[in-house]
Amino acid sequence: MSSIRLAVQKSGRLKEESLHLLKSAGIKISNGKDRLRVKSSNFPIEIYFLRNSDIPQYLEDNVVDIAIIGQNTLIEKSLSYKEIIPLGFSKCRLSLAFPNAVSFDNISDLNGKNIATSYPNTLRQFLATHEIQADIHLISGSVEIAPNIGLSDAICDLVSTGSTLFKNGLYEVMTILESEACLAKSVRITDERQAILDKLIFRIEAVLRAKNAKYILLNAPNSAIDDIANILPVLKSPTILPLAEEGWSSLHSVILEDRFWEIIDQLKGAGAEDILIIPIEKMVL
Ligand code: AMP
Repeated sequence: MSSIRLAVQKSGRLKEESLHLLKSAGIKISNGKDRLRVKSSNFPIEIYFLRNSDIPQYLEDNVVDIAIIGQNTLIEKSLSYKEIIPLGFSKCRLSLAFPNAVSFDNISDLNGKNIATSYPNTLRQFLATHEIQADIHLISGSVEIAPNIGLSDAICDLVSTGSTLFKNGLYEVMTILESEACLAKSVRITDERQAILDKLIFRIEAVLRAKNAKYILLNAPNSAIDDIANILPVLKSPTILPLAEEGWSSLHSVILEDRFWEIIDQLKGAGAEDILIIPIEKMVL
């Protein structure tokens, strides 16, 4: 039986979370140190550990069927691939930044600038779309020092917290691309491997859904149940169980964690008590 070939980073920011995601999806991978290829013992998948910047080409050449990779890397290489699902980690943005001493009012201030970047294709496309005439200075690493050493007037680089820019006396003037890790596939995947991929996507979606969802249990007087059920966003409808104490019930449901803080006051105001929030491991709909 064939297996699907998945590329993940050999080393770097995405590696740990990529392997964690596979583990959460129930895929066992032996910790074969320094091995380029590892087969799972319980799922038809073979993991290829590759250099981040090489992954788009391996997808294009169909040496691997799928990859976990930053959207920014795929877009910069602009080869053929299909993005399947964003994975919610390694979030960052490709931004333009100026030295603190240089002011920025609007996009036309980029005209005539010399901009250092490791993302020449994405930047070129952006400049062309906005009809800006600027020079691109290609640098492969530590782009943020370029203005300080007189190499460029501005930079275009990946930012997540902004602390690297801050430390180098730069400030963000515009974001040109938002990015996160995603699962991407080769456009030449075979039908047999696509069937395996469908099973993998099913598992990954269950893991991702559960990440932001929490199980909520609360007690309420029966008279408050209708109001509370209206406040709680639910999968179908909440489970309502009678408590031993007459006139009281327990409500069970699932909510998105980021909505919990928004609705907690409403729940309490409607009469909810003893609210418990519990993590969910997998969520299959
Ligand atoms: P690495 O191989 O460690 O250089 O990983 C680079 C990838 O990590 C980038 O292509 C992005 O998709 C992602 N990433 C997330 N945040 C950042 C950041 N602040 N700087 C650089 N890369 C980032």
